[in-house]
Amino acid sequence: MTLPAENCPVCDSPSTSLFLDRPSVPVHQNLLMASPEEASQIKRGRLAMHVCSTCGFVFNRAFDDRLMSYNQNYENTQVHSPAFNEYVDQLVGTVLRDSGMRGATIVEVGCGKGDFIKRLLRTDPRARGYGFDPSYLGPDVVLDGRLKFEKRFYDASSADLKADIVICRHVIEHITRPNEIVRAVRSAVESNPEAHVFFETPSVDWILENEVTWDFFYEHCSLFTAASLSTLFTRNRFHVESVRHVFGEQYLWLHARPTAVTPQVTLQPGTTPENARRFKDVEARRNRVWRELIQAESARGPLVVWGAGAKAVTFANLVDPDHHWIEAIVDVNPSKQGKYLAGSQHPIIAPDSLQELQPTCVLVLNPNYRDEISQRLSSLGLSTEIIDLMHDGVLSESGQLEAPTI
Ligand SMILES: [Zn+2]
Repeated sequence: MTLPAENCPVCDSPSTSLFLDRPSVPVHQNLLMASPEEASQIKRGRLAMHVCSTCGFVFNRAFDDRLMSYNQNYENTQVHSPAFNEYVDQLVGTVLRDSGMRGATIVEVGCGKGDFIKRLLRTDPRARGYGFDPSYLGPDVVLDGRLKFEKRFYDASSADLKADIVICRHVIEHITRPNEIVRAVRSAVESNPEAHVFFETPSVDWILENEVTWDFFYEHCSLFTAASLSTLFTRNRFHVESVRHVFGEQYLWLHARPTAVTPQVTLQPGTTPENARRFKDVEARRNRVWRELIQAESARGPLVVWGAGAKAVTFANLVDPDHHWIEAIVDVNPSKQGKYLAGSQHPIIAPDSLQELQPTCVLVLNPNYRDEISQRLSSLGLSTEIIDLMHDGVLSESGQLEAPTI
């Protein structure tokens, strides 16, 4: 077991403070539950989010990785969404442009089912690739031998594999000691000082500034600001070329290259500790308003939430933990349909099922998918009201949710 650090796991400062405490939350957001009973019996853990006042890093100090199991029932692929596909295609272009490389040897750390690296190699037919993931399921070799998968971690033992580009997307936020994975990648690229390294992870500043309560959940035990992500890489002998906000500002995209010496580290907490400290009040206010909203909407007719990902699992467990008000969760991924949300037990249904259900309202948690959802509803012949909770759910001075703009 890896115990969470007492000090900040990024800069080692002892100056950290608790700002968000949820005593009993589902530990998994993307495990598929076959029955309501199974969904109700999921493992729970404590979310005790701390912020480091020295570097701005945010972490769950109560995280217990013995509770975690990322097995074959873990389903977080988003490739069924056109908006997400478009985003991933842009990212493939970014990797090839920023590295300036063609025909490179590309490694993806924590490649999941390998969707991203396959797309990269299809875009650059001369490139070769290796996907590393202990939970990978599928053929060991694909794309006529250009892409190989290894069911293990990528570390110093992989140093003989001379990688030109190393990519690691949405892994580091799941690890209590992010230092270890960055150190492992650094030792693996020791043999190639010209390597390019790309990491993608959620932006905690975006979550705090936009008051996105459903983006704090158990699986994400380590959350970064642009500055704390830079600090982590700099301390591990990387030169940080850039850290950009991508995917509608929701994610950070870091580009770094190895250096022989440890560069000077400048610690910049920014406004993150301050934003974190007021989050407790934000969460209480938002939960109260949303509970009122879902009760009012469900009195008018069936209410559904679109997208059965981590955001919906967290939202449903915060505002409708006993499945009273939200009828169902809609998801375009066929492997999620017919299953149940962890904890709250809401059924997951296909978009086509909405023709029968005839919902009066669809709640949207991620504004990036709003247009896509609207088009899908139109194609089903439905004129259901859509409420984008981030933008339509404007809170008035008195804490009341003002009328949605639609
Ligand atoms: Zn720190």
